[in-house]
Amino acid sequence: MTGKLRIAVVGAGPAGLAIAIELKKLPFVEYTLYERNDRISEIGAGISIQQTTWRMLEVMGAAQHLRDSTWFRPEDGHSVRHYNGRTGRLLSTRYQPNVPKEFLHARCHRAELQNALWKANDPGHIRTSKRLTNISQLPSGRVRLQFADGFVDEVDLLVGADGIRSVVRSFAFPEHKIAYTGRTVYRTLIPVEEVRCIEGLPADAVAFWHAPKGEWVYTCNLGGKDFELTVMTNEPLTEHEKERVSWGEPANVSDMTRHFPNFFRPIQELFAITPDIKRYAAFSGPRLQSVVTDSNNIALIGDASHPLSGAFGSGAGFALEDAYTLTQSLRWAFARDRSKPQLGDALHLFDRVRSPHYEKLYRVLDGFKEVAGNLAAPHLQLNSDEEVAVLVAMNWAKRHDWIYEYDITQDFARIAEQESD
Ligand SMILES: Cc1cc2nc3c(=O)[nH]c(=O)nc-3n(C[C@H](O)[C@H](O)[C@H](O)COP(=O)(O)OP(=O)(O)OC[C@H]3O[C@@H](n4cnc5c(N)ncnc54)[C@H](O)[C@@H]3O)c2cc1C
Repeated sequence: MTGKLRIAVVGAGPAGLAIAIELKKLPFVEYTLYERNDRISEIGAGISIQQTTWRMLEVMGAAQHLRDSTWFRPEDGHSVRHYNGRTGRLLSTRYQPNVPKEFLHARCHRAELQNALWKANDPGHIRTSKRLTNISQLPSGRVRLQFADGFVDEVDLLVGADGIRSVVRSFAFPEHKIAYTGRTVYRTLIPVEEVRCIEGLPADAVAFWHAPKGEWVYTCNLGGKDFELTVMTNEPLTEHEKERVSWGEPANVSDMTRHFPNFFRPIQELFAITPDIKRYAAFSGPRLQSVVTDSNNIALIGDASHPLSGAFGSGAGFALEDAYTLTQSLRWAFARDRSKPQLGDALHLFDRVRSPHYEKLYRVLDGFKEVAGNLAAPHLQLNSDEEVAVLVAMNWAKRHDWIYEYDITQDFARIAEQESD
């Protein structure tokens, strides 16, 4: 390779914005971030900033922009409370005793996170209203990108950061498909002052209100004027629907509330003051065996690389870890042999760090499915309150805390050292 390494990143969500921050630090790289929308925007309502996410925001120089803005952290330091949604009984509270104060779990509007990442970027490298429509491999080993408006670019490395319905993934791994999970999420924001009038509803807690079969209601203060309501429901396809594809479409509040007819009175009152609500069909897909192509010129990051459908409430954190790992891998490969830097070495290291991590996460999901299967066994005959207690104890257990405590900087350093030997 002669001259600078030319990189195109497609998609300016958390993954794309994060990698653009890190690419700016690499003197041997020339990069452009392409986004299909006409501005940097976000979807949904609130987002959790986990310990792992804070760590990455700190490394990227974006944490300061978030700390200056609005977010919520419970006063007693809990990260989450789990309630039985029917009785309102508190089943468990999670604290974070060993987490540094600045890395404690926080919840904010998704726009605040996007904004913080945006502020740490160089806008001169970001091009909006650029929807990628076609990709082709060139005999030179480069990749050719074609956009909806006719614009064309040619690069040494294409980074797909274009989310769960990734065009880049469809091109790179055409056999990989995502599908509707049978789960639909409803989300809205309610003025926090109205929520405070509901007796018995903890307006300053991060709370899951559980129902049987993995359905739940999530309530959380977002730190400013807004209170978040997010609801997970099981909605198998009706015989009239071939596939559910809608994302963020307006829905009736009754479509959501019909799932929780016997719920705790304060939650019913919250439903009663819920204004408009949007519905998000959750999609996911199997794990990719590798997040880079054999052609050594395409890498996937964020939801494009691991279509997990928001599982674990940490997808933005995973996206930032991917961005960090890919840029550190490039730095490592180029420091190793400046005269003949090998892009393939960088992508191999990136994949070696991230693919096993995703394998572990998918295994946790398999465990959730196993719990659901065991609970459905006819001989068990648990009543709904017993089922909820078992679900919370099994799926929201301390043994999964490693997901939020994982330190990618240490893991990367360890594996890079092994690769250097
Ligand atoms: C219900 C739900 C709750 C969640 N809660 C949390 C949470 O609490 N904490 C957390 O960390 N994560 C959470 N997540 C996950 C998190 O939202 C995602 O993991 C994260 O947004 C992934 O970032 P991304 O940049 O990979 O993808 P996205 O955020 O999807 O961004 C992709 C970007 O690519 C652009 N794009 C797409 N196609 C093209 C194209 N062809 N050309 C150009 N641009 C394109 C899009 O416009 C978009 O800007 C949740 C997800 C869901 C569904």
